[in-house]
Amino acid sequence: MLLRHTPDEVVERRALVINPAKTCQPIGAMYAALGIHRCLPHSHGSQGCCAYHRSTLTRHYKEPIMAGTSSFTEGSSVFGGQANLIQAIHNIFTIYDPDVIAVHTTCLSETIGDDIPQIASKAADEGKLPAGRYVIHANTPSYVGTHVTGFSNMTKAMVDYFGSPDTRREHRVNIIPGYVEPSDMAEIKRIAAELGIPATVFPDTSNVLNGPQTGKFEMFPRGGVTLQDLMRTGAAMGTIALGETASGAAARSLDARCKVPCEVLDLPIGLHGTDVFIDHLRRMAGVPVPDSLNIERGQLLDVMADMHQYFYGKKVGLVGDPDQLIALTEFLVSIDMWPIHIVTGTPGKKFEKRIQEITRSVPHPVNVRSSGDMFLFHQWIRNDPVDLMIGNTYLKYISRDEDIPFLRFGFPILDRVGHSYMPTVGYRGGLRLLEKILDALLDRMDRDAPEESFELVM
Ligand code: SF4
Repeated sequence: MLLRHTPDEVVERRALVINPAKTCQPIGAMYAALGIHRCLPHSHGSQGCCAYHRSTLTRHYKEPIMAGTSSFTEGSSVFGGQANLIQAIHNIFTIYDPDVIAVHTTCLSETIGDDIPQIASKAADEGKLPAGRYVIHANTPSYVGTHVTGFSNMTKAMVDYFGSPDTRREHRVNIIPGYVEPSDMAEIKRIAAELGIPATVFPDTSNVLNGPQTGKFEMFPRGGVTLQDLMRTGAAMGTIALGETASGAAARSLDARCKVPCEVLDLPIGLHGTDVFIDHLRRMAGVPVPDSLNIERGQLLDVMADMHQYFYGKKVGLVGDPDQLIALTEFLVSIDMWPIHIVTGTPGKKFEKRIQEITRSVPHPVNVRSSGDMFLFHQWIRNDPVDLMIGNTYLKYISRDEDIPFLRFGFPILDRVGHSYMPTVGYRGGLRLLEKILDALLDRMDRDAPEESFELVM
């Protein structure tokens, strides 16, 4: 038992986090920046931070992650990293020729207080910024927030740097997809295309972090939102932001700056979440829903009904990011599963309230915690075991020790593949989630069934 020292008794802790259910801000900022076509993320801090962020993303997406670093030394740690960043901007544009460098800060450069816009402007004054190229930035100190807030900050930077007021109104919708997989971003684009709605999805890591093997290295893969499209976001009919924590800030900033009205929705996970997303898209663009989407919806509904007996009353424990957990909990409750232990590492006052509202009909006490950790989650599990756990790879230790089926979902997934290629959003994504839930539950039933009730047909 790797976690044999976890005691059953829960003691309230304030100053200590054990096995955090989060990672650091720059990881999310780097991921978001990779969703701009021909963008090189840049970590303004020490090499160690950048190596950690790149390796975490590489392990999750199984792709090389390109990023620069200001490579702080002892000197820059004391006197600031201005000289390093100006040199980096010059080197990166000269050697790699991106359209944009997306700078995010780290704990160290934030503690020093480096002013990135001032440094970028000095680089421009010194002629280090070629014409038609850009440096954008997000402040991502990791002693506050998490990878989700880092993603949110960089996504908002895209709007703040490139969105500009426009009196024209194009027949086009902005969609901010949230901190989801490249496969999910592709699925969101596919749904908009099925509806016949021109959409600017940003950031967009599809075809960047789930691209094909061609045998040829490409510094900047073909995917990602283009700068031209980002510059048109101010002329869109409206913005749909998916997930309050990851996407709300960017959508509201665009609304405030460019008068593009926004709707902030839950992630489209499951039947209801996808219904709401499609309904808002349909109304915003004034289009009907095609049969192709109605058929997908009917298929999801069919499986929900056909397999309901296996979902009903199953207790579930969830660890992950707030936007995912809110939408997933709503989906699980809709199929009569009982999410009873729910932990996110990301702080947020509204999260616990939303989960309590969603789980009001669950006939069992529900534990929910934001700014929580996996140590607490494990204690809850030991006191009240569940039939299934859903969360990132780090749950595998609890799954093994407590012998509980485990479905990998969220970030990071370091020991399996599939998440980059197969979505969990939309009706098709809902089907995939149900398939994975059923696989986990039915495999366990098969394993534990006595010989006389080992069923061929289930
Ligand atoms: S927590 Fe801070 S110091 Fe650590 S890797 Fe993240 S940015 Fe760097």
